Amino acid sequence: MLKESLNPLNNVQELIKSACHILNLDDYIYELLKEPQRVIEISIPVRMDDGKTKVFKGYRSLHNDALGPGKGGIRFHPDVTLDEVKALSIWMTFKCCVTGIPYGGAKGGVCVDPKELSQGELERLARGYVRGLWRYLGDKIDIPAPDVGTNGQVMAWMIDEYIKLSGNYSLGSFTGKPTILGGSKGRDEATGAGVAVIAREAAKKMGLELDGATVAIQGFGNVGGYTAKHIQQKGAKIVAVGLRDSAIYNEDGFDYEDLNSYRQIHKTLKGYPKATEISLEDFWSLNVDILIPAAIENAIDGNIAQMINAKLICEAANGPITTKADRVLEEKGILVTPDILTNAGGVTVSYFEWVQNLYNYYWSVDEIILKEERAMVISFNKIWDVAQEYKVKLRDAAYIYSIKKLAEVIKLRGWY
Ligand code: NAD
Repeated sequence: MLKESLNPLNNVQELIKSACHILNLDDYIYELLKEPQRVIEISIPVRMDDGKTKVFKGYRSLHNDALGPGKGGIRFHPDVTLDEVKALSIWMTFKCCVTGIPYGGAKGGVCVDPKELSQGELERLARGYVRGLWRYLGDKIDIPAPDVGTNGQVMAWMIDEYIKLSGNYSLGSFTGKPTILGGSKGRDEATGAGVAVIAREAAKKMGLELDGATVAIQGFGNVGGYTAKHIQQKGAKIVAVGLRDSAIYNEDGFDYEDLNSYRQIHKTLKGYPKATEISLEDFWSLNVDILIPAAIENAIDGNIAQMINAKLICEAANGPITTKADRVLEEKGILVTPDILTNAGGVTVSYFEWVQNLYNYYWSVDEIILKEERAMVISFNKIWDVAQEYKVKLRDAAYIYSIKKLAEVIKLRGWY
């Protein structure tokens, strides 16, 4: 049996090719969009606590800036590769297009396990990353944010280093900062809040009431946890949470606050007393209305897709469904809302942070939640309509919509 391609770069290139073909675009557009415009690889020497110096590999990829400066997180993870960073930067271009925010796509990464570093080592690595790249970053050039393995504290060190090197107090050069340092209210919850809005809108189209709908979520980190909170607030019942090697299940539904406080104390949901532990096979096969992969890439492969009995899947993580699994789910008639639409609430509120930094004028959390919700509903309906027009699934529609828009701007700017 052929092994599935788990290379996200190959997979996203296939999606671009197919959208260019459907739109009958010149080959040049595909050639331009299949690879980033600029990729930088740096070596970052870091003085470790034991006095020795270790060198880490860092990357920054700017996929396309036709519509605005680059935007995308910085990932600190041992599995970071150049291809992954490139693919993530390509996803960012399309994610920004889908939501209509005036950015291009970018992404960065460092191949490191941040859990193995002391706070001092982590700070020196974060500052070293900026020292290697600051000339290519900035609020009108390329704007990083946190991603897996980085957080508000890392952004605080990075913006500090950036301000010192550039001599320019431009807080909008990094987003996802702590609120006291120009971060936006509501950013922490933004991705999960947006996922819940997309789930509600998609359910509505299917004639499914979110109030009372059953939900299974894989992962209970930032995205999974806040998705649980917001989807529960909209009346849905979270019956299962998938963990690394098993899952917890309760047919009567969990209470988000209770789950969250257990996780904060025990650092895991394993052993949560108001649940039955089930296997991962049983988790994926659950007869639920909505399944939300919110943990990692390639979580649902062709085999897992065969087991799935959910009516709707909302991709909260980036790239959680393999290309083969996507085909299986389509054959089974399961509606999938794609990652570049479903988890775009995070970058939308990052954009709000940038706007607030540029104006030096800050909004209330209610204003932000309202603006985010409005943006997510508009984006969903736009992509839904494109899917109807071209008779394609939502993922293809999101790429068709974005590539059509990008091709127009590329032409207007005289790039061909
Ligand atoms: P996180 O590190 O806060 O949470 C990930 C969670 O998944 C952790 O609890 C981890 O224990 C769990 N996990 C890891 N491997 C797992 C596995 N095999 N099975 C089950 N659980 C597993 O990260 P996050 O910020 O929540 O990001 C999750 C996904 O969402 C990533 O793909 C990320 O790129 C994407 N994403 C995040 C944001 C954001 O704003 N944080 C925005 C857009 C997309």
